[in-house]
This record gives sequence, C-alpha cells and structure tokens, in this order.
Amino acid sequence: MRAMVAMYCRRHHGGRDLCADCSELADYADRKLDRCPYGGEKPACTHCPIHCYRPEQRARMREVMRFAGPRMIWRHPYLAIRHLLDERKGAPEPARKSGSGGD
Ligand code: SF4
Ligand SMILES: [Zn+2]
Repeated sequence: MRAMVAMYCRRHHGGRDLCADCSELADYADRKLDRCPYGGEKPACTHCPIHCYRPEQRARMREVMRFAGPRMIWRHPYLAIRHLLDERKGAPEPARKSGSGGD
C-alpha cells in the first residue's frame, strides 16, 4: 500500500519522498490495517463491507489505487499479484468484532 502511495505522490506531488499529506494518508491506512477486524483474512479494502476509513481518506485512497493499481504490476509484480488475489477474495466474517465497545 505504501508503495502505491509513494508512486502516486511522486507523480502528483513531485517529491522523492512522501509529502506530508501522503505520509499522513499512508500512516492512516497502516493504522486501519493494524486494527482491521478481518485480521489475516482481510478482503481488499475496496470490497470491504465495513469500510473503516473516514470518507475523506477513503476518497483519497481510491484516487491512489486508481492511479497506482495498474502500474504496480510493472514496478512491484509480487505486491501487485498479492493485491489482485486480495481483490478476488470476498469479505469473510470478521475475526474480531469492531466498534462493540472493546479495545
Ligand atoms: S476497510 Fe475493511 S478490510 Fe480495509 S482495513 Fe478497514 S475493515 Fe479492514
Ligand atoms: Zn504526496
């Protein structure tokens, strides 16, 4: 995911490293992944029925995916294939419940 944000940032924001906004978005996504209730059985976030992202971050991430998704296969074939496999997975039952007061 970070690789995709980096690709998007380089093209759209011009720097070598992640700009502040993109870095924040990547951190946000990392935090969401860490807390993903699906754990290892995680579906692709785009197909996730929970959609734990806030609308703003979700829209930005969608942009990133639209740009970087097709380019990944050339730059990071292994990551791209893993991502495609994730995309094909439906959403299983969450391993742990979210938002039910725990945590
Ligand atoms: S959007 Fe869904 S799959 Fe992605 S991190 Fe959030 S809960 Fe997990
Ligand atoms: Zn950027």
